[in-house]
Amino acid sequence: MTRRVLVTGGNRGIGQHISTWLARAGYEIVVHYHVNRDAAEEVAHAIQQAGGRAEALSFDVGNREETAAAIISNIETHGPYYGVVCNAGNHRDNAFPAMPGEDWDLVIRTNLDAFYNVLHPVTMPMVKARQGGRIVVISSISGLIGNRGQVNYSAAKGGLIAAAKALAVELGKRKITVNCIAPGLIETEMTAELDLEKIVAQIPLRCIGQPENVASLVAYLFTDEAEYLTRQVISVNGGMF
Ligand code: NDP
Repeated sequence: MTRRVLVTGGNRGIGQHISTWLARAGYEIVVHYHVNRDAAEEVAHAIQQAGGRAEALSFDVGNREETAAAIISNIETHGPYYGVVCNAGNHRDNAFPAMPGEDWDLVIRTNLDAFYNVLHPVTMPMVKARQGGRIVVISSISGLIGNRGQVNYSAAKGGLIAAAKALAVELGKRKITVNCIAPGLIETEMTAELDLEKIVAQIPLRCIGQPENVASLVAYLFTDEAEYLTRQVISVNGGMF
């Protein structure tokens, strides 16, 4: 039976590459999206054209009821996931004194609450399947060092690291590994409006990262060889920290 993997935000940016890399490794991909359905269907179609298996699935990761309903129904229809990549996320940057409460709430909901919303309905079916598994959470360098203008995002991404480490302890005896990846600056729509010249000068490798740099690491964490790697945070940041 093909092992199924849910990739949240698997339709574009870093997530699109994660979907493609894992599909190439032989996993069946549930390409999750929020609003960009065409992008999700394109990714699923490309995977199918290449001989793989994929479907698109939508829910707002910040909405607990909607997320649980979509995931439970997907699992009831197709069976439990072998793995989940919690990749979907957003940011609303602002100096802290100028940060509106709704931007704090939105970023915490979409990045940190999403950990519970997505993983709570999937873990028991994974455990009951007794085939081990992989959970990878995409955090950020912002969650490790704290970034100016990102008090909300740093809080959410730092919280994800703590949550993932605790979950790794709980799921270890079930042979389900839980790890975080903390990317630095990666070229996607999220970073399209940044003044790169200034930032790149502060990166030891003097360039911005590519989505493949993150996707290939996720794919490694899904290999059998990575079975002894859990409760870790791995940075992909060109040496920024
Ligand atoms: P993009 O902005 O390119 O894509 C964001 C993805 O998240 C899309 O798939 C989007 O779906 C989905 N998404 C956003 N909000 C929601 C929501 N409420 N419910 C469900 N899905 C949602 O982001 P990146 O690819 O750049 O980033 C991917 C992850 O990596 C994020 O968690 C981000 O914080 C993290 N990261 C990125 C870095 C970078 O430099 N790019 C650096 C460090 C971390 P849709 O298209 O349907 O809206």
